[in-house]
Amino acid sequence: MPGTEAPARTVLISGASIAGPALAYWLHRHGFAVTVVERAPELRTGGYKVDIRGVAVEVADRMGILDDIQAAGTDMRTGTYVNGAGKRIATLPADIFGARLDRDDEIMRGDLARILHAHTRSGVEYVFGDSITSLTPTAPGGGVTVTFERGVPRDFDIVVGADGVHSTVRRLAFGPEEQFSRHLGSYIAAFSLPNTFGLDREELYHALPGKLACVYSSAGDPAAKGLLCFRSPRLTYDHRDVPRQLALLESAFAGDGWEIPRLLRAAREAPDFYFDAMHLIEMDRWSRGRVVLLGDAAHCASPASGQGTGMALVGAYVLAGELAAADGDPSAAFARYEAEMRGYVAVNHETAQKFAKEMMAATWREIRFRHLMMRMLPHMPWKNLIARKIAEDVQRAAGALALKDHPAPAPLTPAAGPPYAA
Ligand SMILES: Cc1cc2nc3c(=O)[nH]c(=O)nc-3n(C[C@H](O)[C@H](O)[C@H](O)COP(=O)(O)OP(=O)(O)OC[C@H]3O[C@@H](n4cnc5c(N)ncnc54)[C@H](O)[C@@H]3O)c2cc1C
Repeated sequence: MPGTEAPARTVLISGASIAGPALAYWLHRHGFAVTVVERAPELRTGGYKVDIRGVAVEVADRMGILDDIQAAGTDMRTGTYVNGAGKRIATLPADIFGARLDRDDEIMRGDLARILHAHTRSGVEYVFGDSITSLTPTAPGGGVTVTFERGVPRDFDIVVGADGVHSTVRRLAFGPEEQFSRHLGSYIAAFSLPNTFGLDREELYHALPGKLACVYSSAGDPAAKGLLCFRSPRLTYDHRDVPRQLALLESAFAGDGWEIPRLLRAAREAPDFYFDAMHLIEMDRWSRGRVVLLGDAAHCASPASGQGTGMALVGAYVLAGELAAADGDPSAAFARYEAEMRGYVAVNHETAQKFAKEMMAATWREIRFRHLMMRMLPHMPWKNLIARKIAEDVQRAAGALALKDHPAPAPLTPAAGPPYAA
């Protein structure tokens, strides 16, 4: 019953990517004692470029990290479609490629993870290389006893699953992933590779029926990033079995031209290989007792939404703010967190489903039509209207939440040391 529970003061967060450190940041400012446990042995810095848009920009601003995000921005200039022989077929002009509304920043996922870690590590306990194995309520209205793969058992008032689409906390508290996951019909791999393409803030795309290969370099990054996407019904594999994921990727792109053989070799050698299905996580509720889910663990919208990172930042602000406003009463805070986030998440899930369908052309005919449209676009008088319409659709989803004010004491000082070192 709301109001009868002991107020929460200690919080364990599982996952140190985007949602976890962002929540840690706000909880620390609101006076909670926060521990973050991350399965990886160190901060994971891989991944593709991600967008911070709409309400998420406002959250980043309130965190005092917006300048850091903008300083580390990708500054992408143009995107070009190439054919199998590498010939440039259609280039999106900079004013369309970079069409953005006011509140829209783009950053490499790894750079954002570094910024969040740097802004929290002085006031938050980080435990790398460990994972939760069980969650047991200590007593009615009390906290949670947590056991770990490596560390000794500990008690916390609240446990937060910010451990991504394959969340362990969700499995332990709510059951197997399959019941919550909706496959959107495609897979994505992202990885670093040497920039032997001579790219400077430019992205190259090579489209094949049901497949897309991309490579680009962003501002200040000596390496390039590769992206391979393919349509497929749900595949069976363990999400931590990288050799099997590489085999699936190689089989999907076997015999394909352009630079795809080189990209496949690079994927195999990359230290930061990332592979996942495009899928949504759909749940009726995000909390159970003293356990609550955040970010992709609660409501993954897939990379097709372009909003996973933004939603993680916004959810962290809302959850921490409501816990502070409810003076640590988890039931009241979790109910308000869900009520505020539901509509925003629903709109972004809709966008994800729409974009997932449009991301890859199904046939050569469709690919040729898209190339033609892109070649014609710069000469169309209404090209800016088209660019603006696309940006507005995205922005509508990104702005679908009104942030409350949750006054918090002064921000943390970023930890000393090399900028954003892990
Ligand atoms: C290395 C990496 C690369 C990514 N690349 C892309 C990309 O290219 N494009 C894209 O759209 N999205 C990518 N994502 C996903 C993107 O970061 C999220 O959609 C979004 O930012 C929401 O973040 P999140 O913190 O909720 O989840 P995530 O970013 O998925 O983070 C979850 C964190 O929890 C950790 N974790 C998992 N299981 C456990 C466990 N049992 N115990 C403790 N910790 C655990 C993970 O290692 C990870 O650090 C990537 C995520 C990661 C981790």
